[in-house]
Amino acid sequence: MCSSDLWNKLSVWPSLARQKGSIMPIRCEIVSQDRMVYEGDADMVVVPGESGQMGILPNHAPLLSTLKYGILTVRTKGVDEYFTIAGGFVEVQPDIITVMADAAENVREIDISRAEDARHRAEQFLKEGPPPDTDSYLAMEAALRRSNLRLEAVQRFRRSQSRIPGSDQGERE
Ligand code: ATP
Repeated sequence: MCSSDLWNKLSVWPSLARQKGSIMPIRCEIVSQDRMVYEGDADMVVVPGESGQMGILPNHAPLLSTLKYGILTVRTKGVDEYFTIAGGFVEVQPDIITVMADAAENVREIDISRAEDARHRAEQFLKEGPPPDTDSYLAMEAALRRSNLRLEAVQRFRRSQSRIPGSDQGERE
């Protein structure tokens, strides 16, 4: 089954079941190293698992998994919210999904200028020949991956979402 077939099948049944009153939403909490990024109810959450996008519905069996860099989607009453996830873990219980991310943002709150500056800084550093030490090289490589993820996510997903008021200061669009 191709991923879009899977997505369509997963997408339809929770809302139908909810209409019939046979299913409760699942709680979703996304926590990053410095803040609570999201908490709320969801009909379905799709996380960037190590082996691909993983759809989680209410009453899912308990699960603990690592996450790779990618997009997490929270679907509630047919509306999708998109989040960038820069790696981390997900813990699933039948009534709650907890995501512990190294860094995470709602795509609507991403500051484009800031991500462009971060990408520029990292690219410049990596171009400047042999790094002073491995740690700073790895840190800059990770900064480049985070900024690329944020900028790609804005391009792909922001058109379908309105912005969070006040989150777009200084953006060049
Ligand atoms: P910068 O160099 O601009 O700080 P960074 O990748 O080093 O970027 P992180 O350490 O990943 O930043 O994140 C620090 C905090 O800032 C986190 O809460 C993260 O969600 C937030 N953040 C980072 N970049 C952006 C951005 N472009 N837009 C909105 N929030 C951001």
